[in-house]
Amino acid sequence: MNFALTERQQAIHDQVGELGRTCFAPRAAAHEAAGRTPADNLDELFKAGLFGATIAAERGGLDGGPLHSDPLLPLLVVEQTARYCPSTAQSIHIHFNLSHRLDVVGTPEQRARILPGILKHGHLVNGTASEPGRTARGLYNLQTTAEKVDGGWLLNGHKNYATLGDVARWFTISAVIKGQKAPEGHLTFLVPAKAEGLRVIADSWNTYGLRAAYSPDLLLENVFVPDRDVLGEPGETARNKWQAKAHLSFAAQYIGSSEGIFDFLVDYLPKRGTAGDSYAQLRLGEMRIATDAARWMVYRAAWLWQAGDLAAAELFSMNAKYQAMESARLVIDRAPQIAGSSALAADSVLSRFLRDLRYQLLHENQDKTAATVGKYHLGQNFDVTARL
Ligand SMILES: Cc1cc2nc3c(=O)[nH]c(=O)nc-3n(C[C@H](O)[C@H](O)[C@H](O)COP(=O)(O)OP(=O)(O)OC[C@H]3O[C@@H](n4cnc5c(N)ncnc54)[C@H](O)[C@@H]3O)c2cc1C
Repeated sequence: MNFALTERQQAIHDQVGELGRTCFAPRAAAHEAAGRTPADNLDELFKAGLFGATIAAERGGLDGGPLHSDPLLPLLVVEQTARYCPSTAQSIHIHFNLSHRLDVVGTPEQRARILPGILKHGHLVNGTASEPGRTARGLYNLQTTAEKVDGGWLLNGHKNYATLGDVARWFTISAVIKGQKAPEGHLTFLVPAKAEGLRVIADSWNTYGLRAAYSPDLLLENVFVPDRDVLGEPGETARNKWQAKAHLSFAAQYIGSSEGIFDFLVDYLPKRGTAGDSYAQLRLGEMRIATDAARWMVYRAAWLWQAGDLAAAELFSMNAKYQAMESARLVIDRAPQIAGSSALAADSVLSRFLRDLRYQLLHENQDKTAATVGKYHLGQNFDVTARL
């Protein structure tokens, strides 16, 4: 067993940490107030050569992501970004997951046409499956429809939570083929941001937390998508368990934000004069241990992906995500207790982290995650993509 990061992983970990300290943290309050994607922070990540973190080396990327040689690398970027700006971390997480999928599933023509824009010009890719009421209907049961017409498809529907909605060049949109049922009839499309009939509802994002992870509603009214912009085969999303490939980068966000809170406390408690208090020491130690426990589970899960044991990786990624959520909940409970109410002005760094982390925990269903692991151990049917 070797717990050390590779030289390249360590260098990128440190590079993003430096960007976080010098750029992301000082800008976080202004981005929260503006409620739009932190485009300047994303540009720093682009200039650092990280937009292709989940694209194959043979196509000019860094070969990260669950299906390439270095699954941990993009997780380190997401974790270190969340430590300073959770909204920027959610934004880059979406780009990493969707550009990985495009890289793996895309046709040679799609790759040749779209990937250079990501690598050389900083184009961003998002992905929107969510739509109002989806949780109750089931993950793949969408009301957005795709109708086959001459030379392509017509998309109609109402989406919500389109992260990167104001800056993405490509919107990856999921729909169900008219007259067919999910998951077999579920199909994914690459839609340019400027496509006719695609409308971002600009004022539909006004949230309690992660306010700068701008994720507005979308309206699709007869959006024509040519056949060449269909991503993958019908039913491919469920069949290849794409949702499971994102578990670890959610976990990386929970860990990174927990670290941000921990950093705050290590700086604040001595200044406040309470570092000698045995309860403060106890609670801080609990937070450290919980966050470390989650981190090593995430890193081990990344190692399972790297080893190519997909079934084990998918399942253990659920364990790791669960533990990262559980640890984050402990941090959310303990941190305000030892910081005290004086640290919790509405515009304080700690308040912002608590809001962002609590909100991001709603993105995934922790109970369903544990129940899935339970089903597996009872020999029952289980679905590693269950996340809502
Ligand atoms: C910051 C953020 C960014 C996001 N970005 C994206 C994105 O880029 N792309 C994308 O596709 N999606 C995105 N999502 C959406 C996410 O994947 C979920 O679809 C969305 O959060 C679900 O809506 P909701 O949180 O309002 O929960 P609801 O759908 O209102 O569900 C509320 C709760 O009901 C419970 N519940 C479980 N089963 C049922 C049931 N059968 N009936 C009723 N309730 C049930 C769940 O525990 C759930 O917590 C994002 C979400 C967040 C918070």
